[in-house]
Amino acid sequence: MIASMRVSEAKTKITAVLTSAGIAAEEAAFEARLFLSAQLGCALSELPLQHAAEIDMAALAPQLRRRIAGEPLQYILGETEFMGLRLISAPAALNPRGDSEALIEAAIELARGWDAPRIADICTGGGAFALALAHYLPQARLYAVDISAQALALARDNAAALGLGGRIDFYQGDLLEPLAARGLRFELIVANPPYIPTAELEYLPPEVRHEPVIALDGGADGLDFYRRLAQETRAALADGGYLLLEHGCSQAAAVSELLREQGFGIARVINDWGGRERGVLAKSGRSGGRE
Ligand code: GLN
Repeated sequence: MIASMRVSEAKTKITAVLTSAGIAAEEAAFEARLFLSAQLGCALSELPLQHAAEIDMAALAPQLRRRIAGEPLQYILGETEFMGLRLISAPAALNPRGDSEALIEAAIELARGWDAPRIADICTGGGAFALALAHYLPQARLYAVDISAQALALARDNAAALGLGGRIDFYQGDLLEPLAARGLRFELIVANPPYIPTAELEYLPPEVRHEPVIALDGGADGLDFYRRLAQETRAALADGGYLLLEHGCSQAAAVSELLREQGFGIARVINDWGGRERGVLAKSGRSGGRE
């Protein structure tokens, strides 16, 4: 590879390298721009202004090799974006998905008018849901839980970097357990638990197989965590409180059924940006509470 080239040439070259490694053309062109803006230390939107800059291709080569080997671009660049927030990305946690943004938008819409809501984010991972909710709902207090100490450390770093640490409490533990131990109750509980059936893990794309399996493995039918959440969130919700669960795109009916069995009412099924069913908003069976 030539040592140094202009941005436009480098863009073509990187796109070609990624495409020949099997990455779809549109995605490769987008990732080439992300590699280049990271290398130049500029925002993606500023890249056209940098067209005459020289790119040190030798410095980029190790990063490109990692990407070709299947590592997610976010881990290589050490950052990602969720709901317009720049987050630190590291292999301790799943990278936040664009599809999850549809759920968080629904949660923001729901809770916007509420006065000082307490919101729990179970399986917070790197903190994406809790961080976005704290950012867009400045009147809310967040309680974020994960079983992984490494994921929580990342979530804390993200909160500090975004100046949100003062409104998010982090707890290490198994689902609701650390919150129940403190007798806390919530107007809204959100969760993106692991939901891939165990037998399907080996067929996931290479990028996903670089992500922590503990964040993906949902047990034999992918529903293990929904069975537990349907039961354990009941006592943790305030009267009339809401539960918002992300799930796999073929799990809406099964997750809704598990929730109904525990006395929840299904308020709506939420579609992701690709139009697939991606989440369920359920209301606690007990009456009263906020709308
Ligand atoms: N949406 C993730 C994927 O793309 C799975 C996340 C999860 O299991 N919660 O594989």
